[in-house]
Amino acid sequence: MGDPSDSRPAHPLISVVVPCYNEEAVIGVTHPRLSAAMAALPVDYELVYVSDGSRDRTLGLLRDIQKADPHVRVVGFSRNFGHQIAVTAGVDHAKGDAIAIIDADLQDPPELIGDMIAKWREGYDVVYGKRISRAGESAFKLATARWFYRLLNRLSDTVIPLDTGDFRLIDRQVADAMREMPEHDRFLRGMVAWLGFRQYALPYSRDARVAGETKYPLRRMIAFATDGILSFSISPLRVAVWLGVITAGFAIVGIVYALFIRLFSHEWVSGWASLLFAILLMGGVQLIMLGIVGEYVGRIYREGKKRPLYLVRERFGFDDNNG
Ligand code: UDP
Ligand code: MG
Repeated sequence: MGDPSDSRPAHPLISVVVPCYNEEAVIGVTHPRLSAAMAALPVDYELVYVSDGSRDRTLGLLRDIQKADPHVRVVGFSRNFGHQIAVTAGVDHAKGDAIAIIDADLQDPPELIGDMIAKWREGYDVVYGKRISRAGESAFKLATARWFYRLLNRLSDTVIPLDTGDFRLIDRQVADAMREMPEHDRFLRGMVAWLGFRQYALPYSRDARVAGETKYPLRRMIAFATDGILSFSISPLRVAVWLGVITAGFAIVGIVYALFIRLFSHEWVSGWASLLFAILLMGGVQLIMLGIVGEYVGRIYREGKKRPLYLVRERFGFDDNNG
């Protein structure tokens, strides 16, 4: 690695972004552990908590924490905008020379941020956690996640590292570059991979949630996976071409065969069943492809409206409002 000593400040400010959605069960545990991990490091730090439209006591708890701890900033959304947007808002509000992103539920050990900072000081711009094991997840989630990341890499031109989440440390330069990407369908781990820079994979074991429930039920996991694929690949659109070539090929063979029988024998090809199946098959394929095209068109429509990514209802602990 180049010479990091010129580019990295001797006593940097590190921001830690924590997205929180209905996390009243964990905030009281997370904050002390995160603070202790950061206070042990030879850096200045700020903790940027983003309450993503929480409907429980999360925002109130964060407000109390902020009153007692000058390291804490709190951003409260006007409603639930989703995990990836909450992280984006945290990065927008962070002032650090480097920014760490960590979930509120302590699945990712905050103590690892120190190791990430060490790698950052060596000159890496992105240090992402790579899960070598995951505790407390269902076999179904593990299998689908594994399968998903491999499929995504086959489809996408950007190489998106396998088995990584959003737990990572990014340099200020990377954060600024990310802020230049205004897309609404945000798949941050892919966006950071797309940015390039010097990236380092830090292996770690993912723990189970300390308390509370996952905010990613199956429905949201599917939506998230769809975002990942559609934001990083247009291959699904090409499926239509291949299906068209294959079915047209079959059709030509069928036509030649039917003509041949009719012209050179006294028989003819009969049967309404094969006809019906062919029609149903083509109808089904066309509807599926129309749906895929529609997904992309819908996304273009959504981007075209140029709405803001999120709306902040309240902020505490920032210089411009002392909360
Ligand atoms: N989260 C959020 N907004 C949402 C859903 C989740 O800010 O709409 C936060 C949540 O509070 C947590 C992180 O995103 O800090 C990851 O969510 P969770 O732990 O529920 O996901 P899992 O680890 O089960 O994939
Ligand atoms: Mg979690």
